[in-house]
Amino acid sequence: MGIKIGIDLGTTFSAAAVLDKRKGIPVIIPNRDGERITPSVIQFQGKNVIVGSEAKDAYESGESGCTSAFKRSMGSDEVYCTIDSVGYTPVKLSAIMLRHIKNEVEAVTGETVDEAVVTVPAYFYHKERSATLDAARLAGLKVKQLINEPTAAALAYSIDHWRENARIMVYDLGGGTFDVTLIQMKSGGKIESLRTKGDHTLGGKDWDARLTSLIESKAEFEAGLTVNEYPQLHNAAMRAAESVKKQLSTKNIASLRLSSEDFGKFKTEIGIDEFNKATFDLLKRTTTLCEQLLSELNLSWNDITDILLVGGSTRMRQVSAFLKERSGHTPLMHVNPDEAVALGAAICVWSPQPEYNKGVAGSISHENPSKHTGRVGTETKLHNALSIMPSDVCAHAMGVIAVSADGKKYINKTIVPANSIIPVKCAESFHYYTGEKDDNELEIYMLQGEKTPLESEVIGKYTVCGIKHDPKNNPTVVSIQYSYDLNGMVHVQVRQQGKNADLKLIEDPVPKDMSKFSLPAEKVTASAQPQQLNVVMAVDVSGSMNGYPLKEAKKAMCHFVDKLRNYPGTPQVGVVAVSDRSIVVMKLDSDLNKCKIAINSIEEEMAGILNGADPFEDIRRMLRNAVGRRWGIVLADGRWDDQPKAVRAAKMCHELGIDIVGIGFGTADEKFLKDISSGEIESMFVGCNELVESFGKIAQEIGETSPKRLGRSNKVTAVSTWRAIGETQ
Ligand code: ADP
Ligand code: MG
Repeated sequence: MGIKIGIDLGTTFSAAAVLDKRKGIPVIIPNRDGERITPSVIQFQGKNVIVGSEAKDAYESGESGCTSAFKRSMGSDEVYCTIDSVGYTPVKLSAIMLRHIKNEVEAVTGETVDEAVVTVPAYFYHKERSATLDAARLAGLKVKQLINEPTAAALAYSIDHWRENARIMVYDLGGGTFDVTLIQMKSGGKIESLRTKGDHTLGGKDWDARLTSLIESKAEFEAGLTVNEYPQLHNAAMRAAESVKKQLSTKNIASLRLSSEDFGKFKTEIGIDEFNKATFDLLKRTTTLCEQLLSELNLSWNDITDILLVGGSTRMRQVSAFLKERSGHTPLMHVNPDEAVALGAAICVWSPQPEYNKGVAGSISHENPSKHTGRVGTETKLHNALSIMPSDVCAHAMGVIAVSADGKKYINKTIVPANSIIPVKCAESFHYYTGEKDDNELEIYMLQGEKTPLESEVIGKYTVCGIKHDPKNNPTVVSIQYSYDLNGMVHVQVRQQGKNADLKLIEDPVPKDMSKFSLPAEKVTASAQPQQLNVVMAVDVSGSMNGYPLKEAKKAMCHFVDKLRNYPGTPQVGVVAVSDRSIVVMKLDSDLNKCKIAINSIEEEMAGILNGADPFEDIRRMLRNAVGRRWGIVLADGRWDDQPKAVRAAKMCHELGIDIVGIGFGTADEKFLKDISSGEIESMFVGCNELVESFGKIAQEIGETSPKRLGRSNKVTAVSTWRAIGETQ
C-alpha cells in the first residue's frame, strides 16, 4: 500500500503534504533538493524538462524555453506557450507540474502515491476544475477530491484550534491573486465555508511592480540613470524587487545592488516605511474586500473569531499590522503561510465525505464559539484530523438560459444559488412547447454565475431528446436538475413531468457566438414559437351600464369568444365584472362554451352601483402564471373614482408583460383609457353600437400579433420556448 497525499497546485509555488499518523498532524514532504515548496515554473530544454527552482532561476535570468503562471489560464483550451514549435496548453503544463510533484514525493518517501486531494481556488469555475482533474489524470494521479484552497487552510488550522461555532476569516494573498473566505466551524466536526470573495489581479507581483518603480525612481534621483536611456535598468530593478520585498519582511532596511553592461553599477537602500507607503493602496484593496464580505453576511469584524493568514505574501509585515488595526484581531499565521493549503489537503484525503444536500445554502451559526481547549494532544489531533468534515460552498450560481415570463427577453434562470453547500442537487421546472411529434428536442445552455446570459460563463450545451408531445397541445413541463459534486463540478439531468426516467442528453460544443441571446426573445422566437393565448375580459357593470349598454357589451364579448375558436392551440378566457368591487365571473378556462354562459350570467349592478374599484389586480392574478400571450380587455363606461390607482395597477400588469387594451364609451375618459393600455393595440373610444365591431377588431389584431400555428416544428431551440414558471424578470 502506498501513501495518500495533499497537493497545493499553486500559481507561483506548489507543495505536497502527508498526514503523519504518529504525530497526528500533516507534514510537508520536501522535494529532493530539500525545499518545502516548489516554484510552479517549467523549462523545456530539448528533451529535458526542468521543473522548480532551477527553472525559476532560468526564467528570471531571461533564458528561453521557460513558462510560469499557467494556472491563471486553467480552463482555456488554447495553447499557453509554444516552445521549439510544440504548443502547450495549461492542462498539459499543470500535468507536468503534478507529475513532477508525484515523482518527487515518491523519490523522497520511497512509497507510491495511491491517491491525492488537489486544491483549487474557491472561485474556480466548472471548466477550471474539470481542467485540473484532467491534468491530474494525465499526471497519473488518482484524485479523491478537489478542495477549495481556503477550506484546506482552515482544515489545517482546525486540528489545533477546533472551536465549535468559531468563524474564521481566511485571508489568502499569494503571488498573483487575493482571496478572502469566511469559514464556520460547526457541531459534528463540520467546517463550512460560507462565502468567498477575491481579486484575481492582485497579488505579490503587484507589490513587486511597485518596488520596481521605486527602485527605478531612486536610480534616477540618486544616480541619474533612466529607463529610457538604459533599457536594462527595468529588468534589473524587476529582478531585485522580489528580494527587497523578502528582506523587508524581516528587516527595516533592504539593500540592493544592480549591475549591467549598459548602466554599470547602482547601489541603494529601501526602507520599510517607503515600501509600505508605496503599496498602501494595494493593501487597502484587500481589507476593503474583507469588509465587503463581512457586510454581505451582515457581520462585522467583532463577529470573527480569528483571522488566518495564508499565502506567501502575508509574510509582508504590513499585512498583519494593517489587518490588526482594521479588525482588532491579531491575525494567526502558520509558521509557513505558503504551506497551510497543502497541509489541509493532506488531512482532507482522510476526511469523511458529506452527503448530497438539497439546495441548502451555507448558514451562519449565531452561537458563541466554544472555549478554546488550550494545547491539543497528539491523540486529539489525530482524532480531529480524521473526523473533521470540510464542506465547501459553490462560489457561483448555476442557471439556464430561459425566456422571461413576459416572453420578451432571455434571462439566466438560477437553479442552484451561489453559496450552496456542496455536494448539492437542485431542480427547477420549465414550460416547454413541443412540436406535434413524440420525439421533441430541447437545447439547454448551462450558465455559471448570476449575470445575464451573455455575461455568464456558459459551461455546457446539451440537446435533450425524446420529449413527448401533449395531445391537448398544452405546454410540457420539464424539470432540470443540476448537481454540484464534491469537486465543485456540475452535472445535469432532465425529466419530463409525469415520467419516471431521465431524458437522454447529448453534449454539444458550446457555440462561440451567443449574441442572439442579447436580442429580444420574441424576435428570435416568433416564427418558431406557437403562443398560447390567454385573455381576461373585464366589463364595467356600474349603474350607467344598465339596459342596452350591458346587453351590447355581452353580445360583443360572446362574439369575441367565438372568434377565438379559430386560434391555434387552446386559448383560455377569463371574465371579470367590476364596479364598486371586482368580481371574477369565470377563472381562466379553455372551455369557450362555458365562457359564453359565464358572460351571459353577468347582471347589472352585480358588483355595486358606482365605479369604486378597478379590475387590474384580478387580471394580474389570473394571468400571472399563464404561459403565452396574455391580454386584459377592459370595457369602461363613465369615470372611475380612483383613476390614478387604476393606472398604477394597470402599469403593474404591463410590467409583467400582460397587455391591456381599454375600450371606452359613454362618459369614459379617453386619456385614462390610453394610460391603462399598453400600446400594442390602441385604446378605443366607441359608441355603444360599435362594440361588437370593436371587439371583432381586437380579436383580429390579437391574432395578428400572436404567432400562427404553422410555425410549430419538432426541433425548436429550447431557449426560444423556455419559460420560467412564475418568473417575473
Ligand atoms: P501562490 O498561491 O500564488 O502560488 P504563494 O502563496 O506561494 O503563491 O505566494 C507567493 C508569493 O509570496 C510571491 O509573490 C512571493 O514573492 C511572496 N513571498 C514569498 N515569501 C515572501 C516573503 N518572505 N516576503 C514577502 N513576500 C513573499
Ligand atoms: Mg496559494
